Amino acid sequence: NQKKLKWLGFQKKERIERIQMLKDNGYLTDEFEQILKKNENLSLETANQITENNIATFSLPMGIAPNFLIDGKEYAVPMITEEPSVIAAASYAAKIVAKCGGFKTTVLDRKMIGEIALYDIIDFERAKNLILKNEDKILEMANEAYPSIVKRGGGAVCLEIKKLEEFLVVYLTVDVKEAMGANILNTMLEGIKPLLEELTNSTALMGILSNYATKSLVTATCEIDSKLLGGIHVAKKISLASKFAKIDTYRAATHNKGIFNGIDAVVIATGNDWRGIEAAGHAFAAKNRKYEGLTTWIFDEKIGKLKGELTLPMPVASVGGSIGLNPSVAAAFNILKKPNAIELAKIIVSVGLAQNLAAIKALVTTGIQKGHMKLQARTLALFSGAKDCEVDLVVNRILEKKIIINSENIKKILKEIRN
Ligand code: NDP
Repeated sequence: NQKKLKWLGFQKKERIERIQMLKDNGYLTDEFEQILKKNENLSLETANQITENNIATFSLPMGIAPNFLIDGKEYAVPMITEEPSVIAAASYAAKIVAKCGGFKTTVLDRKMIGEIALYDIIDFERAKNLILKNEDKILEMANEAYPSIVKRGGGAVCLEIKKLEEFLVVYLTVDVKEAMGANILNTMLEGIKPLLEELTNSTALMGILSNYATKSLVTATCEIDSKLLGGIHVAKKISLASKFAKIDTYRAATHNKGIFNGIDAVVIATGNDWRGIEAAGHAFAAKNRKYEGLTTWIFDEKIGKLKGELTLPMPVASVGGSIGLNPSVAAAFNILKKPNAIELAKIIVSVGLAQNLAAIKALVTTGIQKGHMKLQARTLALFSGAKDCEVDLVVNRILEKKIIINSENIKKILKEIRN
């Protein structure tokens, strides 16, 4: 009940009132309240420093999905997306899961992998043994190339070697602490490349971080009472939908796109590299040599509960890259109460699971379009030139009279309203 009161009417409030509500609920400090109220964004000066040939900055809507309960802690999750209904769907699913104890997460490890591909090798076995014999020396050299991460308690951890056709691939594992680690890994790999070439009398084709971050896996799970989903038949259909996404690639791609609707929104809000997170997730979806749906939903008849699970590589950072440079990103971290990299990864994977639940529940019940209609009408009304004060009038008339949503009809309604 306390939770209900906390966010009562949040979606119907004005923007400034929502910010106030975040503040009143303890999710925002004074400094970031002001930044959000003023809609302070990345400055042109900073933008010009971050990337090349800068001419402007680009904006996207930032919203909040409240009611996330993860490992017993409540979060209001900042999400950046241009797609209508993503934030509403995440909030809806989060609310249901919170009523059933929330999301539980596990993190097995949090390290990054980089690789060097060697070729022109005469004796693979000899080369492999030489590398392994010199492992300590190679790791030491990697750490010398990036000493600050060692000072922070991280650094190079181990080497693994694999022969792939004409290549001998050396995989370097590094504890990158709070960073995502691309620059750390790339610097280390370039540092050890000459030593590997010399030891094995081979040529290095390249040395680069791998985005297939299998040593940064995070699992989120939840158990939902089928009554909260609309009954056993709905829970069973959700589990069938998850099975279908494992076996049909056409469905798997869309199923996973829906998961990334939520994941990308938080990854972007927190200033992380969403291309890297997407690459990791889609590579992981193909880990069984077939591209599959990433979530698993099973209906447990005995207890009447639907059990959901999502495991993903989630090498997000709390520092580095452009994270410290964008005021909106700093505000997002403030709202999330400054999570470290591992806590942020747990939040993001939970959002992915929530997003998937909302999407497949809609798909196997009312269909996806019903919930989208209102939002689609809003977007199209804006496109058709409706002013802010006219949008609700247009949408209400469309829904009341069950008018087909297209720009021609919307323009007609606008004309009627204006007359
Ligand atoms: P950075 O190069 O920004 O390195 C991390 C920074 O964070 C360092 O300056 C480090 O300080 C600082 N830091 C402060 N506190 C900590 C801490 N507790 N733990 C770790 N570092 C800390 O970022 P990354 O190496 O993480 O690289 C990420 C960037 O690389 C992203 O912008 C990404 O887009 C980009 N990139 C991605 C690639 C890919 O995904 N394949 C390829 C190439 C680039 P100090 O200086 O003291 O070490």
